[in-house]
Amino acid sequence: MKKESYLSWPSYFMSIAVLSAFRSKDAKTQNGACIADKNNKVIGIGYNGLPTGCDDNDPDFWADNDDDVLQSKHTYVVHAEQNAIYNCMLNDFEGSTIYATQFPCHSCAQAIIQVGISKVVYLRRKEGDNHEKYFQAVCKMFDQAGVYYQQIEDIEGFDQQFLDGIVNLAP
Ligand SMILES: [Zn+2]
Repeated sequence: MKKESYLSWPSYFMSIAVLSAFRSKDAKTQNGACIADKNNKVIGIGYNGLPTGCDDNDPDFWADNDDDVLQSKHTYVVHAEQNAIYNCMLNDFEGSTIYATQFPCHSCAQAIIQVGISKVVYLRRKEGDNHEKYFQAVCKMFDQAGVYYQQIEDIEGFDQQFLDGIVNLAP
């Protein structure tokens, strides 16, 4: 029997980002990203993880002590958006959109701007005063660089139910 409904492009790409997030070994935050080019072809996928060759079992890499650079995952972990860019098979980001499970941090935002990604679609963003300031800083950079950004729930045709189904697959 033929199905009557099909997954929209934004739902499809965000689902890939969410699925990729499940690969992350970060116990606290699993993020994923998927880059689609202007022809709706996937050109890069990533999740937050250690640089190639670094030992996933070394607890230093996942430690949560922000007072000690050597004991903080923030020193080591590569974010999903940057991994999606590094994993990209082409080097033509013109007109592409990155679908990210989290609103990009300032560092990922810089990478997104520098490679020429045109649009950011995000699932959620971190709340809190400190995050709010970073959010403003990222918006300022995106606005001036001409990168369009939008939360996926504001996109017509986005299938929240389907995405919830994917999220519920998590162990
Ligand atoms: Zn980031």
